Amino acid sequence: MATRRTQKSVEDLNFHHIVNRQFDKAAGFLDLPKGLLKQIKVCNAVYYVQFPIKMGNRIEIIEGWRAEHSQHRKPLKGGIRYSMAVNQDEVMALAALMTYKCAIVNVPFGGSKGGIRVRPRECSVEELEKITRRFTVELAKKNFIGPGINVPAPDYGTGEREMAWMADTYDALHPGHLDNMACVTGKPISQGGIPGRGPATGRGVVYALREFFRHEKQVAATGLTGGLAGKRVSVQGFGNVGYHVASILDHEDDCKIVAVGEWDGAIHNPDGIDIGALKRHHKRHRGVRGFKGGKHLPKGTDCLEVDCDVLVPAALENQITLANAKKVRARVVAEAANGPTTPGAEENMIDRGIMVLPDIFMNAGGVTVSYFEWTKNLSHIRYGRLQKRVDEDFRNTFIDATEDLTGGKYSAKVRRKLQRDVNEEDLVNSGLEESMITAFREINGIYRRFKKVKDMRTAAFMVAISKVAKSYEELGIFP
Ligand code: NAD
Repeated sequence: MATRRTQKSVEDLNFHHIVNRQFDKAAGFLDLPKGLLKQIKVCNAVYYVQFPIKMGNRIEIIEGWRAEHSQHRKPLKGGIRYSMAVNQDEVMALAALMTYKCAIVNVPFGGSKGGIRVRPRECSVEELEKITRRFTVELAKKNFIGPGINVPAPDYGTGEREMAWMADTYDALHPGHLDNMACVTGKPISQGGIPGRGPATGRGVVYALREFFRHEKQVAATGLTGGLAGKRVSVQGFGNVGYHVASILDHEDDCKIVAVGEWDGAIHNPDGIDIGALKRHHKRHRGVRGFKGGKHLPKGTDCLEVDCDVLVPAALENQITLANAKKVRARVVAEAANGPTTPGAEENMIDRGIMVLPDIFMNAGGVTVSYFEWTKNLSHIRYGRLQKRVDEDFRNTFIDATEDLTGGKYSAKVRRKLQRDVNEEDLVNSGLEESMITAFREINGIYRRFKKVKDMRTAAFMVAISKVAKSYEELGIFP
C-alpha cells in the first residue's frame, strides 16, 4: 500500500522573489502599461567580482557584488553590506528596495546595493581595510562608483571607517577631481561626512513612528491608545540602526525598551533596559551575553516574541516568518531592517490587527541624509554657514521688538530657546523629519483611499512605482 505523505508547503524565503511579489501586488492596483512596469521592476545590471586577499599567511578569494537596479535618476545610491549571507539575489532585492525608497522620500537617485561575502567579526582591521580598498578599485575599474555614477553608503557590517577607506581609495585613483568625496556617503565628519548621518536611519524610524502615533484612529485600530510616549519597545539588532532607535526612543520619547536581541541572544527586562549601559557592554563584548541589566534569553529572535507594544526588527531579512509570526505580541511592527517580514508573516499579523510599517518607508532616513551629505560635498560648504549671523541678528531683533511692543519680558527658558543657535545637525534633522512626515502622509493617503489595499507596504510600493513610472515617462523611453 502506498504511504500517504503529508505535503507541508514550504515558505519561499528568497528575498528577491519576495520583493518582486510585493511589487506585483502593488502594480495590480495601478493603471500603468505592462512594459513600463517590467522596466521598473527589472534589475538593470549586476557586477560580480572575485579577488585574492592575503590574510595571515594564506590567500583568500573574496566575492563581491554591486547591483544597479534602476538608472532613471543618477547617481545610483545604496549601501555596501559585509556578511556571509550576501549573494546575488540579496543585493538585487536590496537594490530594488533602494529605488523604491528613494522615490518615496523624494531623493533623486536610482537604486543600487553592494555586498562582500565576509565575516567582519573574524577579520582584523588591516584585512578589512585591504578588502575594502581592493573592492573600491574593482568598482572604479568598471565605473560602478563615482559621484555622478554610483554612490555607496554604510549598511549591515559596515560603517564610517569603511566609507573613509572607500573615499580615500577613489580619491587616489582620480587625483585632482574636485568632487571625489561625494563618491560615498556615511563618511566621518572630518572626511566630508555630515552630522546626523550616523543616527539618521534610526532617527528616521523614530520620526515615522511619532507621525504614526499622531493618527489616533489608526493607533486605536491596533488596540493601542495615546501617543508614542510610554510605549514598550523591543528591538532586534543593536548595531547602527537598532542602537539609535533604542537610544532615541528611550531618551527623547519616554519609551521603555523592554528587550534587545543580538546574534548571541536577547536581553529582556519588562521594567526597561538601561540602553547606555547595554551599549557599553556591547562595545566591550561585541554582544549582549553577560549583561546584568535584564534576563538573558538564548536566541536573538526571542526578542520578537516578548510582550511589548512596538517591535523594531533592525538586523536582517526573513526574521518574522510563518514559523513565528503568530507569536508576535507587539501591536505595531516598525521595519527598520530591510525585508525582516515575509509576505505570509505579514498577512498573519495584519489579520490579527497588527500594523506593519514597511521597510521601504521606515528605513529611508539613511538615504535621505546621505542625499544631504552628497549635496554638501558637491557644494563644498557646510549647511548653515552663510546665514548663521543673519539668523542671529533677526532673532535678537525679534526678541527686542516683541518685548518693546508688549512691554513684557520673555522667561529665561523661552529666551534661551529663541536665541539658540541652529547648527548643521539641527538642519539635517529638520530635513529628515520633514521627509519622513511627508512620505508617511502620502503613503497613508493611498492606504486610506484604496479600500482594497489592506497593508501599508502595498500603499508604499504604489507611491514608489507611480513616481518612478512618471520619471521614466518624462525621460521619453515609452512614447
Ligand atoms: P549593523 O551591522 O550596524 O548592525 C546589525 C546588528 O545586528 C549587529 O549588531 C549584529 O551583531 C546584529 N545581529 C546579527 N545577527 C543577528 C540576529 N540573528 N539577531 C539579532 N541581531 C543580530 O547594521 P545596520 O546598519 O544597523 O543595519 C541593520 C539593518 O538595517 C539591515 O537590514 C540594513 O540593510 C538596514 N538598513 C541600514 C541602514 C544604515 O544606514 N545603516 C539604512 C537602511 C537600512
